[in-house]
Amino acid sequence: MRLGVSAALVGGSIVPGDVSIDDGRVTGVALLPAGGSGLAAPGFVDVQVNGFAGVDFVAADADGYARAGAALARTGVVAYQPTFISCPVATCVAAITRLGTLDGTLPGPRVLPAHLEGPFLSTVQHGAHNPEYMLRGDTGLADALCAAGPVGYVTVAPEIECGLELIEHLVARRVVVSLGHSDAEGDIVIAAYDRGARAVTHIFNAMRRWAPRDPGLSGVALSRADVFVTAIIDNIHLAPETERLLIAAAGDRLVLITDAIEAAGLGDGIYRLGDRTVHVRSAEARLADGTLAGSVLSMDEAVRNLVALGASLEFSLSAASRNPARLLRRDDLGEMQVGGTADIVVLDDRLEVRRTLVGGAEVYAA
Ligand code: ZN
Repeated sequence: MRLGVSAALVGGSIVPGDVSIDDGRVTGVALLPAGGSGLAAPGFVDVQVNGFAGVDFVAADADGYARAGAALARTGVVAYQPTFISCPVATCVAAITRLGTLDGTLPGPRVLPAHLEGPFLSTVQHGAHNPEYMLRGDTGLADALCAAGPVGYVTVAPEIECGLELIEHLVARRVVVSLGHSDAEGDIVIAAYDRGARAVTHIFNAMRRWAPRDPGLSGVALSRADVFVTAIIDNIHLAPETERLLIAAAGDRLVLITDAIEAAGLGDGIYRLGDRTVHVRSAEARLADGTLAGSVLSMDEAVRNLVALGASLEFSLSAASRNPARLLRRDDLGEMQVGGTADIVVLDDRLEVRRTLVGGAEVYAA
């Protein structure tokens, strides 16, 4: 079956021609004659999304995942890591356990193993998280959480008690470690990356400020070629000038995340994030005290925002697909290649999502 597109993003470059898929796989690219319109790109991969369309993943059951997935598919997402903010251990175990009961038959995007954004974070840089739930780097607890269900990714503040030991422990178990919600000085950050941490969580937010002789997490992360830089490009969490700096400094290490909460796609109102109450007004999600609490951003919007900042289309689309897939070491995601899985987003000239396919099956059509 041909998609009828005029071009496709293949290996990070836009090539003219149509794309064909059969039995869930890409069977041809750059096919002539090209289709009438649209650009086919690898579907988006969101490594940090707390909820969507009225669903908070900490509390979601299979129906909730299906509803959130249907809404995420409208934004071009083909795979996502449900992200659980710091919460009581029993709540976190229950959320991971429920995630483990999903049997892979849900329609919509692929539900990847969980991203635990907590409880191993700094109380000094807790952001919207409740600092009461934050704990030292307890490897036994980490093992218990990982035993409850699928956990693929943990955000850790390296300076907490036993933080470096925890990072080594998780890395040895092939869990991706990202550093975040951290007040660490540069030397501890360097030690954490030398132990195998791979990313920084929502750079510049909830971390020690970058200073000339104290680069902190953001400065060290940007300076290292082996570290992926996740960022919320919504012009709210970061100023446009900071976003342009990231485009230049992070290059192909830039990974777009939404950090979306259940309010995403719903508009202004009062919502949940774990056990926090979040007020959404004019696309800004905040606690009552004004602290930013996730976002209502979508991946397609983040891509459009990058392009509007001056990044190339190839760069922007790769930051939503290929780069997060590399961060997760998932060579089955984030690339359009003959023989590869047909996880595809089709965009129009305005970069609006027209179709989303997962394993060749259409999960959204405008
Ligand atoms: Zn956070």
